[in-house]
Amino acid sequence: MAGGGIIIKTPEQIERIARAGAVVARLLDELEPYIKPGVTTLQIEHFADRFIKKAGGRATFKTVPNYHHATCISVNNEVVHAIPRKDRVIKRGDLVKVDCGVTLDGYIGDSTRTYVMPGASETAQRLAAVTCRCLELAIAQAVVGNRIGDIGAAIQQYAESHGFSVVREYVGHGTGIALHEDPPVPHYGNPGEGEILREGMVLAIEPMINEKGHECRVLADGWTVVTADGGLSAQFEHTVAITAQGPRILTEV
Ligand code: MG
Ligand code: MG
Repeated sequence: MAGGGIIIKTPEQIERIARAGAVVARLLDELEPYIKPGVTTLQIEHFADRFIKKAGGRATFKTVPNYHHATCISVNNEVVHAIPRKDRVIKRGDLVKVDCGVTLDGYIGDSTRTYVMPGASETAQRLAAVTCRCLELAIAQAVVGNRIGDIGAAIQQYAESHGFSVVREYVGHGTGIALHEDPPVPHYGNPGEGEILREGMVLAIEPMINEKGHECRVLADGWTVVTADGGLSAQFEHTVAITAQGPRILTEV
């Protein structure tokens, strides 16, 4: 995973990461009407794979050793890293998390969105909304001179104030040139602690928020992470640059 120290990006490199990020953003937008009850997670994967190729990009996740898909698509109690399957049919009320990375001209954008299916419970809807807000609050902390702990603290405080919990075992990361770069970006923590944020850092911030406990376990397929207690989980992720002008989201259009 992470290693070799933090890679500070030039403004030119940040522009290139934004171009890759725009492909992910357009893909996640186009998936909004596509993901509905009856579609399989493998069909969503094929949609993503075709979209990335047409845009001239490469599916970053296929470069992860032993992973062969462009996306991870985790549903309901699945937290992250679920493999697209032809027998996984989306149902009414599901929370569908699509995580995707795109490499374009050697630069990488990484983003995740939670799609709430019609008929979702009040709790599921609230969990998705709170998780989305957690990411916004985290991004607001991604400014020069703040610390990594300020990002995690903003997420933890907001999630827990709504009775939800923050996943500990999986964290955000530096990104842009390699998929996973330093530093790790925990979604929990204390204000004023950890690495100082500097201009030119590019971070994938990706809070995973659970309905009940924060504990997770990995299924026998070796990839799929689920909540230990069977509760729901939601996730949003953006690739964000820390600039002199403030945080810049690179995975939106
Ligand atoms: Mg991701
Ligand atoms: Mg990521």
